[in-house]
Amino acid sequence: MKISIKLGLWFFFCILVIEIFSMFFLHNNLVHSQVHQELGSLQARGNSHRAVLEITSDSATLHHIGLMESHTDTEVVITNTIGDILLSSSKINRSMRTILNKPIDNLPRNGRVLQSDWQKEQYIATVTSFNKGGEKAGYVYMFKNTDEVQKLISQLNKHFLLASILILIFMIITIFFLSKALTKPLISMKEATKKLSKGDFSVTLPPPSRDELGELAQSIQTLANDLNYLKQERNEFLASISHELRTPLTYIKGYADIAKRKELSETDRAQYLDIIQEESEHVSLLLNELFDLAKLDHNTFSISKEKVNISDFLQSIFNKVLPAFKSNKIKLQLACPKNLSFVLDPIRFEQVLLNLLDNSRKYSKENTTTIIKVFEENEVIQLSIKDQGIGIPEEDLPHIFDRLYRVDKSRSRSTGGYGLGLAIVKQLVEAHGGEISVESQVGHGTSFKIILNQK
Ligand code: ADP
Repeated sequence: MKISIKLGLWFFFCILVIEIFSMFFLHNNLVHSQVHQELGSLQARGNSHRAVLEITSDSATLHHIGLMESHTDTEVVITNTIGDILLSSSKINRSMRTILNKPIDNLPRNGRVLQSDWQKEQYIATVTSFNKGGEKAGYVYMFKNTDEVQKLISQLNKHFLLASILILIFMIITIFFLSKALTKPLISMKEATKKLSKGDFSVTLPPPSRDELGELAQSIQTLANDLNYLKQERNEFLASISHELRTPLTYIKGYADIAKRKELSETDRAQYLDIIQEESEHVSLLLNELFDLAKLDHNTFSISKEKVNISDFLQSIFNKVLPAFKSNKIKLQLACPKNLSFVLDPIRFEQVLLNLLDNSRKYSKENTTTIIKVFEENEVIQLSIKDQGIGIPEEDLPHIFDRLYRVDKSRSRSTGGYGLGLAIVKQLVEAHGGEISVESQVGHGTSFKIILNQK
């Protein structure tokens, strides 16, 4: 069943129950107060006759009272104390007789109601006593035919029925539009997720409202945007990889064709084969790095941590890279406190540092200095690699950890980089629960800072 129908039915039944109850109470109260009012006016009329009778109760007065009542929808019967009828405005029938025979003890001065059942009886009635010379002289009975009351009540019922039908129609229309309005965003979200599951991420939901549904729509929109971004990034990444692969493969194919020529001298052939070898090494390096990244992405990259003495660990890396720095005429310095240890994966972390140091060497000129500095504060280890190299332009800084991102494409090809090194470094540092950041100034140098939390 559609959610709009479900919601609509729920609303309908809830409001219907509320309407039935409130109509029932309202109707009951109105009928009750109407009958109460009728009885009150009947009693008041009886009392006013009493007032006249207490002044004079001769036959002329009685005749006047009878005459007065014959022109109204009420009847009057006046009896003496023993029940003899002194006046009756109409013929006394059985119902009136039954009421007249009712016992009337302890009658208050203002009289009381004798018959209030307007549904079953023919009359509602009140009685008031009147005195003469301080002695009780008789009773004034007032009658009102319940047909009148019934007519009035049935009129009231008609009004109620009409009001109920109008409310019901109004309620159905309101519920119809309300459930539509409520379910519309849900339906558009359902359509959006359907599109997403089919791989179409170009989803645009209407501006979200400020409620839970709006928050859900916002989340779906964010998810769609993220997926769209990832899709674009993946496409760009694949395009860049195929481009990166195409270049060395074109060289390899071209030089292989030339090397096959019979008339080629041995030295030329050797030179071309060297180029082929160099380019295949490039390709295999690229593939290795891509493979590393893929493993990192799928969390299949196992990190086996162990307690490592940072000073010894850095010293061994320092010794490893020093010859390369020396041949580039770049000074390398290490500043690390002794007896500082940390739990990390030495193989993966060496990869991080070798990548960063290799970059410092590649992007620094002769007679500059690269410094590796480590210190610990509140169980947090800060490691920085600062060079005095060419630096990174400000607009490139946010992207240098992106895959295949290189600041200067032509320069990097000559230095052999594919722009994957820093992406791998970032993933590895994060796999250690750490953070990496960069500060750089063109022409002055670059500083990479790694923060590792011991806790
Ligand atoms: P690559 O293998 O091309 O060096 P990386 O991911 O290691 O790729 O670095 C991405 C880019 O960031 C490099 O192409 C280079 O332009 C820039 N870069 C990285 N390290 C440094 C540095 N120490 N000094 C200047 N530029 C750097």
